[in-house]
Amino acid sequence: MITGKNYIGSQLSGKGSKTYKTFNPQLNIENEHLFSEATPEEINEAVILASDAFKIFSKISGSKKSNFLNAIADEILALDDSLIQVYCSESGLPEGRAKGERGRTVFQLRSFAKLVFEGSWVEASIDTAQPDRTPIPKPDVRKMLVPLGPVVVFGASNFPLAYSTAGGDTAAAFAAGCPVIVKSHPMHAGTGELVASAILKAAEKTGMPNGIFSNLNSSGIEVGVQLVQHPGVKAVGFTGSIKGGRALFDLASNREEPIPVFAEMGSINPVILLPEALKQRTQSLAKTYAGSITLGSGQFCTNPGLLLGIKGETLTEFIQLLSDEIIKIEPSCMLHPNIYGAYEHNKSNAISQSGLSVVADFDSDVRSNYGRQAVTTVDGNAFLTNTTFHQEVFGPYSMVVQCEDKHQLETIISQLEGQLTGTVIAENDDAISHTNVIEALKTRVGRIIFNGVPTGVEVCPSMVHGGPYPASSDSRFTAVGTNSIKRWVRPFGYQDWPDNLLPDELKNENPLGISRLINNTKTHDKI
Ligand code: NAP
Repeated sequence: MITGKNYIGSQLSGKGSKTYKTFNPQLNIENEHLFSEATPEEINEAVILASDAFKIFSKISGSKKSNFLNAIADEILALDDSLIQVYCSESGLPEGRAKGERGRTVFQLRSFAKLVFEGSWVEASIDTAQPDRTPIPKPDVRKMLVPLGPVVVFGASNFPLAYSTAGGDTAAAFAAGCPVIVKSHPMHAGTGELVASAILKAAEKTGMPNGIFSNLNSSGIEVGVQLVQHPGVKAVGFTGSIKGGRALFDLASNREEPIPVFAEMGSINPVILLPEALKQRTQSLAKTYAGSITLGSGQFCTNPGLLLGIKGETLTEFIQLLSDEIIKIEPSCMLHPNIYGAYEHNKSNAISQSGLSVVADFDSDVRSNYGRQAVTTVDGNAFLTNTTFHQEVFGPYSMVVQCEDKHQLETIISQLEGQLTGTVIAENDDAISHTNVIEALKTRVGRIIFNGVPTGVEVCPSMVHGGPYPASSDSRFTAVGTNSIKRWVRPFGYQDWPDNLLPDELKNENPLGISRLINNTKTHDKI
């Protein structure tokens, strides 16, 4: 099937003349299926349908949205092995990872279903009138969160399920009451179409409005550009490169009506190895970090690309042990020849910089598209003077910086670009004697981890997956966890509005039984 987009009740074939195929990086061959890029007319139609759907969907009850989200999860599971096979053939990732990611996707959908079923997420707030107040009577003022409108989601290459078609951004936007148009990632268009078909089935079964979801194929930037510029689109979600995210952010800012772009982009996730902890756990830390750097062939936004320690015997020993451990690990397949090519290019570029030494470089022959891990090291002065060392090398690569002392460590941290995570490897006394280092790290990251690894992002309400630019385009929001719903809403206020004309969330009787802030007190009570 050649599909440009999918609408409820009218699955149209893509009409674009530009066709493309996905690629199987394990077999190093193109997959058979031919995809056709969406045309400008189809893009326009998808946005118009989404705008119409918004009029209905934005007012739909939490329990109906919850049914829809749970039905998407059910339909994804019903795709069973066919989804897993296509996922593996388009990503080179193993079956276990495919199943794990499907589990995460389903969990995210069900978490948002629970959130909107309960309903308090709208943050209803009511300040009742005081008509007798002098000198000016106080009006009745109420507010709650309402959806923004049609949202465009750019699927991520490194999470074909959990951060793509029905991934975190889409689930959060649906939960908020926003129709979604997915700009499918060309590397896994087939996975995207299967998941899109599951969303459409779920929408039909649960009576959602036509146009609530479209999946647009493309293998170039044109479809995404047209979508972001379309006046009917009200917000954008993106996961990928800094270059791509920044381009979309600039496009959205230059529109006549600027719209928010929530882009989750590059990060090297600094890990601070404090002296006492490093001394006590040299061997185990080396083994743990060899595993974390190579996990998923290093293709995680939380991959630890930068390890920082203070020069000395223990750090030298750690570097040697890390090198010994990482070389033992068998390389694995990367997502696509382009990602593999970018990895090799960026790794070579880093290695060619003066002042850098290579401590581990897997140089045995490997199959095509397999990412060969490398670890390098530089001293603190070299790192400070060459910003190439600060850039992400997306893949199984990490660099150890040997700082002169804790003051240089603090200086380096404060000069880093914004990061998703920072990790502190420390004994309790280490942490106390390096407060300035830790405080500097807090200003550069969205989440700080104590004695762990940055890879592995829990999906839960308290998760912060975002950070100062360029880790994300807006550090006030998370891209993971139910709190990510906040990206797709705005506060809306009612003043002196008759009770029967208010939405249920703000009515005196509190018919939904949600938690509300009434005259500055949190309560489930009615007024
Ligand atoms: P990407 O190049 O940023 O592309 C992501 C999506 O954005 C694609 O659908 C792409 O469309 C679209 N896009 C990119 N630039 C655009 C522009 N100027 N205007 C409109 N749309 C644009 O990321 P990728 O394809 O996933 O991987 C490329 C590199 O990104 C990787 O090698 C890695 O360095 C980085 N990356 C980082 C992370 C992370 O979490 N830090 C995750 C994934 C990738 P088309 O593909 O159709 O052109």
